[in-house]
Amino acid sequence: MSEPGSERDGDGRTGGELYLDAASTEPVSRDVIDAMLPFMTDAYANPASVHRAGKTAAQALDAARRSFAANLGARPDDVIFTSGGTESDNLAVKGIALARMERMRRDGVVSDLLLGTSRAESAASGRRPRIVISAVEHPAVAESAAWLERFFGFDVVRVPVDDAARIDLDALKRAVDVDPERTALVSVMLANNEVGTIQPVEDVVRIAHAAGVPAHVDAVQAAGQVPIRMREWGVDALSVSGHKFGTPKGLGALLVRGSTPIEPLLSGGGQERGLRSGTQNVAGAVGLAIALDESIAFMREHAAELIASRDRLIQAVLDAVPQARLTGDPRNRLPGHASFIFPGVTGEALLVDLDARGIECSSGSACAVGRHEIPPTLLAMGLEPSIAKSALRLTFRRPLSDDDINRTVSAIRRSCTALGLR
Ligand code: PLP
Repeated sequence: MSEPGSERDGDGRTGGELYLDAASTEPVSRDVIDAMLPFMTDAYANPASVHRAGKTAAQALDAARRSFAANLGARPDDVIFTSGGTESDNLAVKGIALARMERMRRDGVVSDLLLGTSRAESAASGRRPRIVISAVEHPAVAESAAWLERFFGFDVVRVPVDDAARIDLDALKRAVDVDPERTALVSVMLANNEVGTIQPVEDVVRIAHAAGVPAHVDAVQAAGQVPIRMREWGVDALSVSGHKFGTPKGLGALLVRGSTPIEPLLSGGGQERGLRSGTQNVAGAVGLAIALDESIAFMREHAAELIASRDRLIQAVLDAVPQARLTGDPRNRLPGHASFIFPGVTGEALLVDLDARGIECSSGSACAVGRHEIPPTLLAMGLEPSIAKSALRLTFRRPLSDDDINRTVSAIRRSCTALGLR
């Protein structure tokens, strides 16, 4: 793999490899490292300390919170710093669902469910709380919902998507309206990690709110790539992850409006509005603010160029390999995201062969580390498992040059031939 961060301006490539796996993680820029460093060396104090050094750290934390919130169309108080996308999604899905369940229980809307209540028992009561998610959520959301089902007897309703991974809004409305009183939360991602499709989250929020249900948006793949206006869109909680836009891994935030019912998952000293106890990572918060700011400034200037290079790459791949098919929404997709299926080869073999040819990419779900599972989004889009297994994802944050595109396409063509695709 190319040395991360050594040449961010060139997509992190060094020894001739082309890194096309930005949706998995990104290099950290020198500016971000330089901005973070003082808060690990000189200004290292705990931001809760009353001494002057503590105040310096607290001021840096506040400034980072303000900048971060402004760049996502949120208020500083909305920002809860976390350890990344997975934690933010867990806090939103479990925290909001548990808080809402507690209210429903008090109001007698759902039965008195206790930890360990068997599914059969709670199903028999007919008064289970529900959570509505899309069928293409990341495991951080989907498995959090499954956890609520397993331990608290929630009904998990998975709303279908079409063949481009776009959520079926009519089905979402029916799913919410069938029993809004018992529906604790609607959770739908802004952009899909596997196929790049951007969801109409403003419509999702409108449907949820019309039924009095809060809406969570997993914006992990979208933050820094497409504009986000959390408050304007009416979103109640929004997850982001720093390493997708240029911070070290293990940093993120959940933005959550003060009026949203939510239970903390960590007990402790009550930092971050009591929702995320634990001494804050001041350097991390500073890095998050700077990296997001850099990404947004970059996209403001280069988004059109990035999209044009993505579309040239897509067309060149489709021209070079007649069996290849684009996956996801052809137009409404992340700017630096090109994903395909190559019926007749397996994605895993393709990845290995492409790696040997200096092209570093992925099959789609970055988080299935070490397991080559069939990308779940592709299955939800209606593809046969044997076809879904042939997925390839090329993701990048900087516009690709013609040379990058030619190299990538030529490597894909050779790999497909080497793997027996005729
Ligand atoms: N949500 C989505 C859509 C993702 O793509 C990812 C990671 O790829 C996550 C959540 C998890 O984020 P993290 O790696 O910061 O835990």
